Formats: sequence, structure tokens, C-alpha cells
Amino acid sequence: MDFDVRAVQTRSMKKTTPEILPNGLISSKESDDFDKSLDLQKEQEQDNILGIVRQWLVNSTKPEWSEISKYGPGVKFYWTRLESFDIKDGVLYRKWESDDGSTISWLIVLPEIFKDLVLKHLHDSAMGGGHLGVKKTLSKVRQRYFWFGVRKFVERWCHKCDVCASRKSPVCKAKAPMRQYNVGAPLERVAMDIMGPLPTSEYGNKHVLVIGDYFTKFVHAIPIVNQEAQTVARAFIENFVTIFGVPMQLHTDQGANFEARVFQELCKVLDIDKTRTTVMRPQSDESDGSNPQPDDYLDKLEQAIGRVHELARRKMNLSSNSMKKTYDHKIHHTKYNVGDHVWYYQYQRKVGRNPKFQRPWHGPYVVISRLNDVLYRIKMTPKSKPKVVHHDKLKRYVGENSPTWFQQSSD
Ligand SMILES: [Zn+2]
Repeated sequence: MDFDVRAVQTRSMKKTTPEILPNGLISSKESDDFDKSLDLQKEQEQDNILGIVRQWLVNSTKPEWSEISKYGPGVKFYWTRLESFDIKDGVLYRKWESDDGSTISWLIVLPEIFKDLVLKHLHDSAMGGGHLGVKKTLSKVRQRYFWFGVRKFVERWCHKCDVCASRKSPVCKAKAPMRQYNVGAPLERVAMDIMGPLPTSEYGNKHVLVIGDYFTKFVHAIPIVNQEAQTVARAFIENFVTIFGVPMQLHTDQGANFEARVFQELCKVLDIDKTRTTVMRPQSDESDGSNPQPDDYLDKLEQAIGRVHELARRKMNLSSNSMKKTYDHKIHHTKYNVGDHVWYYQYQRKVGRNPKFQRPWHGPYVVISRLNDVLYRIKMTPKSKPKVVHHDKLKRYVGENSPTWFQQSSD
């Protein structure tokens, strides 16, 4: 097999001459020496996730899904993409193909224990790193390594880096205290938004008033003729309040229409505590006096959710059939075959057009190859560029304009 790889010269690499190794990895003395210092095979074998994946490959057995359902998302990730992994010279690699399939490289699958070390090497160190931003650091990492969640890890690493933080001004400057927004019941907090102007309907309506309940997630849409305060207030009372009752709090965006006195009067009459929609703000009620940024908050939340899930998985009866079914349902949705016609989801916001009315599904495309259970290569016309896309961005095309150009070849 021929290997070829595009070498991107980064600041740090200019010092050494990159060459391409037979396995497709970019070689430089420094990075080779670094990799050699890692006992990859041993640590992959001892890694909680990679140890399992290696066993499958060593024994050439891919277990049934029912055996996998008890594991966390990491193991599942590797299971669904197992065809893209292989063991070479005792080390687990991920096969990485470019969109058109002309370029293949083998990335070292990094065990948990080495992640910090690699980031210190590729981000922090004066030699290899130089504190590049998330995008550049990520692309450096991806030139040689792969692991489940690599993007998140790199993002977090860069955001937490003191050197980087010290020279960047904060993205979010607002420092209002973050309020606790727990809702425990329907009608405790209701949000409202106005869509439009839209093409005028038969009845002269040009806008849609959208009202949603935070607790039940119930959403109510009411057509209205204009977005003046009186109109909105009347629609709100007639179509919502009279049916569901008076909400305790009403969140709106900060549009002038909602600020109008008429509406505020109505709130007063109905005894609604009107608040404004809060864009996420840093918390300031921490005892250490620091002001964590939204990222930290999300980090903490995510870690907490992760821990809760892990605990739940352990506590739950793992062999329970219903749980397996739920997982099976999620994973074994559609399997596409080469030659299948599909829609491809790609959202692009167009300036001047209401995003709510844009069509994000593009196609029909043809599936020209299947890389693993979740990655497919698709193409729209014989001459168009192929794309490698995730299963979740595809849906079956059942229209009448199926492409006819594709002929399935023997391979
Ligand atoms: Zn940094």
C-alpha cells in the first residue's frame, strides 16, 4: 500500500526537516525521539479503554453490541469504528483517510496516561509547542495522535493554560452574578420570542409569537399581525394565559416591543415578574473570590455529568434488557450500503435569510464507500469532490430524482 501525507509546516517544525515514514506519520527527529520515550504498547494494554479495544483486534473478534452496552462512550466509540483501527508492531493505530481517499496516515492511539505529556510537548514546551491556539494545537496533535475526545481535551488544555490566558483578553467581560435557574414546575418560568416578519398569511398574519415553558418544554406558536406590544400582549393573554394560566416569570429577549409600557402594565396587572433573557454569565458567587469563565462552568458541569453517568452505569443493573434495547435503538439505526442515495445535513447560515427557513439537507448524494459503522464517503456528482461524513448527518433519500451516474465497481 502507498502512503502519502500532506505535511503542514508549523512554526516549530521549520527547525527540523520533516520526512514521511512508511506508516504515513510525519517524522522529525524530535517527535520520533519523543514517541520513542513513550512505552506505547504497555500503556495501551493497561489503558481502561484501549486495553479492551486491543483485545478485540488481537483476537480478531468484534463482540456483539449486547456485550458493549455496559461500557461508557469511549469503548462504544472505538467499537463503532473498529475497522479503522489496527495494531502494527504492537502499537494500536487509527487509520486516517482524507476525503477523497488518496491520503492515508496511521495515527498513534494515545493512552490516557500520555495525554498530558503530549500536550505539554506540543503546546507548552518552548521547543515543540510555543502556546499556539486551540486550532493549531489540535492540528499538531492530530498529525501524529488520536484518541476519543481529542478535541475536547485540547480545547480544555488550551483554555486552562496560564501562559495563554495571561496574554489574551477575556472573551466575556460581564461579571454579573450567575443566578440559579432551577425550575420545578410548569408555568414557573415561560419564555417568549417573536419570529418574522414572514410572508403575510391569508389572515394577514406576518409574525409568529413563540411561547415556551421551561419546565415542560412545551412550545406554543401563535400567528400575529404585527409585533407591537399591544398585539403581543393580547395574543399572549388570549392564547396562553386563558388556557394555561399565569406564569410566575416571563423571559423575553430585549426587543423594544417587550419593553413597551403597555406590556409592562399587563405584566403588572397579571402579577408576572418579568425578567430578561440572560446570556450566560460567569458565576461570581464562588467563595474564593475568582470569577470563573463560562468554559470553566461548562467544564465542571460536564465533569459532573460524566461522574453521574459513570456512577449510574455502575449502580444500574447492566444486563437489564430495556437498557440494552435503548442503546441498540440508538446505535443500530440505519446502515447504508455503497450505492445508496442519501441526504446530507449541512447547515450554513445565509446572511439576510431567516435561519429558521433555510434548508440544511443537501442532496441527493451517493454513498460511494463505507469506512466503518459511522463514517461514509459520499459524492453528489461524478465530478464533485467526495466528502467523508458521519452517519448522523445522513438520511435516506427517497425522492424521485435519484442519481443514476453511480455504477458499483467490483471493489
Ligand atoms: Zn498555552
